[in-house]
Amino acid sequence: MKRNVLIIGAGGVAHVAAHKCAQNNILLGDIHIASRTLAKCEAIIASIKEKGSKRGPGRLQAHALDALDIEATKALIRETGSQIVINVGSPFLNMSVMEACIETGAAYLDTAIHEDPDKVCEPPPWYGNHEWKRRDACKKAGVTALLGAGFDPGVVNAYGRFAMDTYFDQVDSIDIIDINAGSHGRYFATNFDPEINFREFTSTVWSWQNNRWKSSKMFEHRQQWDMPVVGNHTTYLTGHDELHSMSKNLGVPNIRFWMGFGDHYINVFNVLNSLGLLSEKPVRTAEGDEIVPLKVVKAVLPDPASLAKGYTGKTCIGDLVKGTKNGTQQEVLIYNICDHEESYEEVGSQAISYTAGVPVVAAAMLIADGIWDVGHMVNVEELDPAPFIEQMNQMGLVTRVRDAKGDRVLEPQRELLMNAPEEELEDTATYEYFAHDQALLTKGQPSRQQGMR
Ligand code: NDP
Repeated sequence: MKRNVLIIGAGGVAHVAAHKCAQNNILLGDIHIASRTLAKCEAIIASIKEKGSKRGPGRLQAHALDALDIEATKALIRETGSQIVINVGSPFLNMSVMEACIETGAAYLDTAIHEDPDKVCEPPPWYGNHEWKRRDACKKAGVTALLGAGFDPGVVNAYGRFAMDTYFDQVDSIDIIDINAGSHGRYFATNFDPEINFREFTSTVWSWQNNRWKSSKMFEHRQQWDMPVVGNHTTYLTGHDELHSMSKNLGVPNIRFWMGFGDHYINVFNVLNSLGLLSEKPVRTAEGDEIVPLKVVKAVLPDPASLAKGYTGKTCIGDLVKGTKNGTQQEVLIYNICDHEESYEEVGSQAISYTAGVPVVAAAMLIADGIWDVGHMVNVEELDPAPFIEQMNQMGLVTRVRDAKGDRVLEPQRELLMNAPEEELEDTATYEYFAHDQALLTKGQPSRQQGMR
């Protein structure tokens, strides 16, 4: 059992994570929020109080911290008695925050791969360049380090693993599809940190095809998908974090990531990129000032958190999995629909932050409970996905599945039993568990999306 959470970062994702920790503070204990700017942490606390998110007694406190400073981070972990650290600051912080966890024994979670400020789209596998180098150190210290526990990476890794375990004997491909069919009403904005958003797209696109890494250019490969609720959308083959662990851990020959972009985004991106304004390399102005063009673009674009009010529409993110079961080809889509306005109503955030902030807290709760507290470093697909999906279903982020049997809420235990081999179902203990599970499910709190069933 682990208690007391330190959230690092005070941006859009931290805002959701803090609300969700507050909603579950009876389990999680004290909640501390730390970033360089104390006022941002205090604003999150004010929002939690305004929405009445906190459920039980316990501290809720803001702290000023530069998380690149390992000693200061260790001191804060110790001072606050935090046994769980949720790192949802910028991805430049991962390795220093992880080090502080290794040295204090706190469990570590993040939602994105570490980035070196001077490099973009490094050679694959990206985790091998940074996080996995500390795997032995985590094991030696008995520290649980859960990497990439947002939506993508995170939930989509769990979807891939769940599909493999439940619906297939052999999986040929996993296509991860990420569509934001929402509208923020601004001329141009990114839904999360612009610097990180652009860095994903300015260099080589790495995808996993026929059991090897394939390089291509951004916007070189496009694909149309007909997705539930949001309908038909054009997506582009994009490099993304989860490919770099799923390719190693799942043994699936083809894993690709497709992100939806509108023509307007692509036009603006291409202009900025062609002018060199998305470069992470410093330039010197005529006045002798050294500046990083990408940081200037970030500074002039809207703060992603400010998009939340008035954001309309929905996101649809999921895994389309193809393979065979009992020698027959089949196709399963596991996905989530998240509504921008509902997210704002509940916690004051847009859906992109919501879909990343809820999973990392669901994962923290599984660590707090001991279910996922494995005492070493793991990516999400290495853990049992069922309790994770179940936990998110209860927290407002509901998983659905579309296959030959139809489109329904994915209740993991029910799906596992529906797809279990007959000899397992003859076991009465399994039947009893199923009945018990069904009773719990029907008694469970109705979540905000279960009405779609
Ligand atoms: P924001 O840019 O809104 O927030 C980043 C926060 O990090 C800021 O509040 C900033 O605050 C803080 N920060 C930056 N440097 C430091 C530092 N040295 N010490 C302490 N705090 C620091 O980003 P988002 O909230 O949108 O995203 C957060 C993370 O989640 C990112 O890693 C992003 O890539 C990831 N993400 C993951 C998704 C997923 O599905 N897996 C989806 C969306 C985002 P301050 O300036 O005050 O220090």
